[in-house]
Amino acid sequence: LLRQIAQRVKLTLRPGDDVARLGSDRSWPDVAGRLGGDEFVVLLDRIARPEDAVAVAQRLLEALAAPYDLSGRQVQSTASIGVVTSDVSCESVESVLRDADTAMYEAKRRGRGRHAVFQPDMHQRIRHAMELEADMRQALHSDAFYVVYQPIVELASRRPVGLEALARWRHAERGVVSPVDFIPIAEETGLIVDLGRRVLRRACLDLARWQAALGPDAPRTVSVNLSRAQLQPGLLATSVSAVLAEAGLPASALRLEITETLAMQDDAAVSVLGELRALGVSLSLDDFGTGYSSLASLDQLPIDTVKIDRAFVAKMVSSSYQTALVKSTVQVAEALDLAVIAEGVETEAQAEALAALGCRGAQGFLFSRPVPANELEAWWCAQLPEAAQRLADAPDSIQPA
Ligand code: C2E
Ligand code: MG
Ligand code: MG
Repeated sequence: LLRQIAQRVKLTLRPGDDVARLGSDRSWPDVAGRLGGDEFVVLLDRIARPEDAVAVAQRLLEALAAPYDLSGRQVQSTASIGVVTSDVSCESVESVLRDADTAMYEAKRRGRGRHAVFQPDMHQRIRHAMELEADMRQALHSDAFYVVYQPIVELASRRPVGLEALARWRHAERGVVSPVDFIPIAEETGLIVDLGRRVLRRACLDLARWQAALGPDAPRTVSVNLSRAQLQPGLLATSVSAVLAEAGLPASALRLEITETLAMQDDAAVSVLGELRALGVSLSLDDFGTGYSSLASLDQLPIDTVKIDRAFVAKMVSSSYQTALVKSTVQVAEALDLAVIAEGVETEAQAEALAALGCRGAQGFLFSRPVPANELEAWWCAQLPEAAQRLADAPDSIQPA
């Protein structure tokens, strides 16, 4: 893979391309080299403005994003590029490399296959991220990480049927940190594998406890979010079945949520999804409608449920275009025998509009925010008085541990 990457970098930088030329006599050819690991450095001497470097970065990103053939296996890989120009960073060779690295870190943070141009204030932000990372390593094995639950309801009856488990981090100084801030760092550092397994285990143990206590009135399923780094062939399925066995839950009680970009990435990811399906676990396509979502992926991916992103739901009431998109998503899902859950339902008007379009499931602040286990239990029992009665009758042994 590294050799093919190097070859593509070389081809992209070939002489005679449209990089702006300064006084051609004094300029060096463009130079590229591997710094180590999977990091490359490209030195452009023939540019007049930062935009020229950005144009080259764009070409590199495009060239590097095309699939690779590794002895017949198709592999997808993307690059992140940090750009720095010598007018901003010129103290020393080390400072140029450090600033390029900082910009690359920022590019990664923004998502896959991006570039970022170095700005002096980036150091501050990166330091913040690095502090969070150090704190996260410390916190991982304490009870600072915990799981909150958001109910998923059946729109027509408003009856709660399932839960989504969402990670939270109670930080000693910063208070509760949002997963929007710490999940990308956990992904970047690989800590997500450990964290993800803990969330999965907690969610399965809690669901098993509720099912034992509430019987037919208990949540039927719990949904747990997965990140790309967790999709390890063999390992993930083994760890999921071990957790299910420990909790004594049938695989059908677990739904794993993946995003489309994650699922479509490469053959390896898709094969892990197959392994999970073979266990009997359901798969939900999360945040549908963001990024480059396509209705075709509903047919191509081995999924059971589509979750319509809350950005869609939010714009639906005021935009007939968004309404049409939701409607066609529901129709295609129905034809393919997939369940549909709308996320981020905040108003009665949204709930009604979704129900009118044939959407059966929903989740959002209108019903409940994500809440800790004990609050979820109280909320659930308030919705289903039968459940409250069962809980009161339950023997002590199945009360919360
Ligand atoms: P998601 O899986 O799409 O989760 C739904 C997010 O929408 C949650 O944000 C939830 O609090 C929020 N939400 C629910 N209802 C409403 C509503 O009515 N209005 C608004 N404005 N927001 C609503 P949260 O908990 O901050 O999680 C954000 C994202 O972080 C999740 O998006 C998920 O992608 C990721 N995440 C959370 N926990 C985990 C985890 O354990 N593992 C992994 N890999 N990712 C996680
Ligand atoms: Mg989710
Ligand atoms: Mg979502």
